[in-house]
Amino acid sequence: MTDGPTYGFDTLQIHAGARPDPATGARQTPIYQSTAYVFRDAEHAAALFNLQEVGYIYSRLTNPTVAVLQERIATLEGGAGGVCCSSGHAAQLMALFPLMSPGKNVVVSTRLYGGTVTQFSQTIKRFGWEATFVDFDDVDAVKAAIDDNTRAVFCESIANPGGYITDLDAISAISDAAEIPLIVDNTTATPYLCRPIEHGATLVVHSTTKYLTGNGTVTGGCVVDSGKFDWSANDKFPSLSAPEPAYHGMKFHETFGPLAFTFHGIAIGLRDLGMTMNPQAAHYTLMGTETLSLRMDRHIENATKIAQWLEADDRVDYVTYAGLESSPYFDRVAKICPRGAGGLFTFAVKGGYDACVKLVNALEIFSHVANLGDARSLIIHSASTTHRQLTAEQQRAAGAAPEVVRVSIGIEDADDLIADLDQALSKAVS
Ligand SMILES: *Cc1c(COP(=O)(O)O)cnc(C)c1O
Repeated sequence: MTDGPTYGFDTLQIHAGARPDPATGARQTPIYQSTAYVFRDAEHAAALFNLQEVGYIYSRLTNPTVAVLQERIATLEGGAGGVCCSSGHAAQLMALFPLMSPGKNVVVSTRLYGGTVTQFSQTIKRFGWEATFVDFDDVDAVKAAIDDNTRAVFCESIANPGGYITDLDAISAISDAAEIPLIVDNTTATPYLCRPIEHGATLVVHSTTKYLTGNGTVTGGCVVDSGKFDWSANDKFPSLSAPEPAYHGMKFHETFGPLAFTFHGIAIGLRDLGMTMNPQAAHYTLMGTETLSLRMDRHIENATKIAQWLEADDRVDYVTYAGLESSPYFDRVAKICPRGAGGLFTFAVKGGYDACVKLVNALEIFSHVANLGDARSLIIHSASTTHRQLTAEQQRAAGAAPEVVRVSIGIEDADDLIADLDQALSKAVS
């Protein structure tokens, strides 16, 4: 199918990137379980290796099943191109890799997925990269944190763990003025709820592990490029603007224009870092994207009902869902994610740490897991698990205070979920 701008989201989530298999007519995208692809002749092979012709060489770089998913996610995000990889954390490294070098820094939000905080505060130091953590509700602080060595700004659209909403327009105005790209992790919102490129993002990263797959089966990631950033405007991004020795001095931006970042991601990123998505994972995620909008509508409907019920309950202190009128982020819903505030939030249980532990143990439908974005409802008590090593003060700053649990509301019957929470709260708070 040709992806005209006239097609709606529900059509694109099923058809974008796919067409009946040219060899067999297979209607569903086949799982191309092949490591390598036969060259027509020696000239064809040389053209592929020189990036003069686009085609398949070896599945560490490209695979036809994965290619369909890349095009689908890029289309849903309104981007120029996309590169899939083995996990959401791989996608974050794939996004930063062409931009960073030793001594450079990225300015990042304090409200991030726990694993991302660790990746940015600890692990990237091994590459000589630095992350500067800032409260992204304070735009002046974001501006002040950018210096001559800053090569990117990074935040989540709907942020962990509380479902906080970032004012992407305000942040992109700052990154634009500084002539550096804004990278938005859109995992929690998905392109159905938020399209960060329309709010000025340069790159969008995903953990496809979550809502895009939607059934808790495979890990995966994706980097989508808007195709709008001028990598050659200054000398800050030599990987994209300067001659590349591994390809006879070719310049990615000059040669590939709006697809420069995407080609670099495949030809350098996947080729040399090897964080490749396998075709089985792409298959499961393609299945998931077909029902994305239906699931997200239901996640929002359930999350809204449950957040309202919890907020009115005496055993609960507060609820952080941005879809509640009491939330300081409520006004941003209409602007950033007009279809709703997603399915992720935290709530504080009266009785603190011990009550949270009892609640998690007493729930029957909710699963106690370190995951989100599943069709199933999930819960985690961060203070006794993912944020266990932090002090109570650090836990509070991260939105994972000892008296707080995080829920990822699934698409089951809302009444059943409420009944489950009700019986478990009775056991936890008495
Ligand atoms: C899960 C998650 C990640 C990491 O993705 P993996 O697929 O687990 O590597 C990054 N960001 C957010 C918002 C996530 O929820």
